[in-house]
Amino acid sequence: MSAHHRKTEIILALDVETRQQAMEVLTEVGEGLRWVKVGLQSFLRDERDFIHELSDGGYKVFLDLKLHDIPNTVAKAIESLAGLPVGMLTIHASAGAECMRAASVSIGEHLPGAKLLAVTVLTSLNDQLLREIGVDNSAEDQVRRLSDLAVNSGVGGIVCSPLEIGSLRQTLPKETLLVTPGIRPSGSSVDEQKRVLGPLAAAKLGANYLVIGRPILQSATPGLTFREIMAELKGDMS
Ligand code: C5P
Repeated sequence: MSAHHRKTEIILALDVETRQQAMEVLTEVGEGLRWVKVGLQSFLRDERDFIHELSDGGYKVFLDLKLHDIPNTVAKAIESLAGLPVGMLTIHASAGAECMRAASVSIGEHLPGAKLLAVTVLTSLNDQLLREIGVDNSAEDQVRRLSDLAVNSGVGGIVCSPLEIGSLRQTLPKETLLVTPGIRPSGSSVDEQKRVLGPLAAAKLGANYLVIGRPILQSATPGLTFREIMAELKGDMS
């Protein structure tokens, strides 16, 4: 058994149509969930107040804004988030080392409780689509390259696909967080996620956090599905 997955946690992605639906699904999921992910869809609609509501409800918030701009603008955007109870925030590693350094300085000053995570290659891109935008590396090589750059620029964690966890866990410092979408418990629909792993497999490879959306959101019994995933993660720890 790997020691990595002892503390692997679930982050529920609140990718729903309304703020009310988000609160309803949280009620259905019930106790035991600590982390939720708020993406652009929700943040642009529900704004800062929703982050406070989630925090007041006892949740830690992963704010997935995937910032990508010049260093000064990204640093100032993070400054604009000051005061929000955010536990993790994302930027694009492809914005470059200078931008990631500026972001890590800004987060230290303005969101001291938050970890900065870098997104490397979007899971919607493959080798051919990368070539179209002038990247001749394979997606795999590009992920490795951008992950190294991110960590060397002061970024505390990487968002990666399940298929990348194993190799990144081997090469990155052990304190670097690996946050992984594309998780599908057995029996759930794969949706458009092509590169998927089960929760326990991802945890064993060394993922610290599993971002899970539709398997729970679209379950007829979201609370039961969540508890089954938790049990799968815990079951192997004994
Ligand atoms: O697929 P699921 O609904 O579990 O997605 C959870 C999160 O994974 C989404 O909020 C999205 O950020 C991310 N995702 C991804 N690549 C996809 C689909 C979703 O990274 N192809």
